[in-house]
Amino acid sequence: MSRIAYVNGRYIPHAEAGVSIDDRGFQFADSVYEVCEVIGGRLVDERRHMARLQRSLDRLAMARPLTERAMAVVMRETIRRNRVTDGVVYVQVSRGQMRRDFPFPPDGTPASLVVTARNNDLAKIEARAAKGVAVVTMPDERWRHVDIKSVALLPNVLAKQAAREQGAQEAWLVDAKGYVTEGASSTAWIVTRDGVLVTRPLKGDILPGVTRSVVLDLVAKQGLRFEERAFTVDEAYAAREAFITSASQSVMPVTQIDGRPVGNGAPGLTASGLRRDYHSQAEFT
Ligand code: PLP
Repeated sequence: MSRIAYVNGRYIPHAEAGVSIDDRGFQFADSVYEVCEVIGGRLVDERRHMARLQRSLDRLAMARPLTERAMAVVMRETIRRNRVTDGVVYVQVSRGQMRRDFPFPPDGTPASLVVTARNNDLAKIEARAAKGVAVVTMPDERWRHVDIKSVALLPNVLAKQAAREQGAQEAWLVDAKGYVTEGASSTAWIVTRDGVLVTRPLKGDILPGVTRSVVLDLVAKQGLRFEERAFTVDEAYAAREAFITSASQSVMPVTQIDGRPVGNGAPGLTASGLRRDYHSQAEFT
């Protein structure tokens, strides 16, 4: 079955879909995005993803391409046309197209909207979760506005590539003081030897992960001990458990950091439990 992409008002075969070379997303990474999980053909945590999209747009003074209601229809239609049952839907909004020039285009220039959707190999993701993944640490070399979900992801790309070249699945980015900020495309968590869950607070130096916020609700509901604070790489080495969260993989146990086993080297009970329970806390629409 051929894939279909939505581009600026039209559903087009994926292979033929494209935006102008004058698109601000292509020219300047002047573009924001969201990735939302799909399960059983339904969107997971759509409300929180759409709220974050609005926040990203507001932060960059970017216009909405469609109303929220119309965008919800386009997302569902893209899911339907691609026969996605379990996977992700990807939404990207750019500041539109204009002859290449740094300042914003004139008011009224329509924003660009691209929506794609694809199925995930669930068996492969589950096999990965059963084993846990390896992460490697490296300096966080990103710009200062990483709380905006923009497509300016080159440092993330380089970090992820370096991780893959070292046989790891994710890079954990580390600030100048030796504290982990987040993964290249995920939120970083540890569970201390005393059983306290730790993740970095939202102070502008990490993306406010939607999965992070849902896990925090779950943690509160289950009465787990929790601290929202930065943790160092050494603390992570000494942790009982570690895991990462993101919309495309929910809660993924981390079993190795920089080649050292985390805890006993197997996925921990806390991470596995949160993974098992995640979708009971998530919102399906
Ligand atoms: N941090 C970064 C840098 C990301 O790119 C992502 C997801 O792509 C996340 C965290 C996790 O965010 P979410 O849980 O909303 O997918």
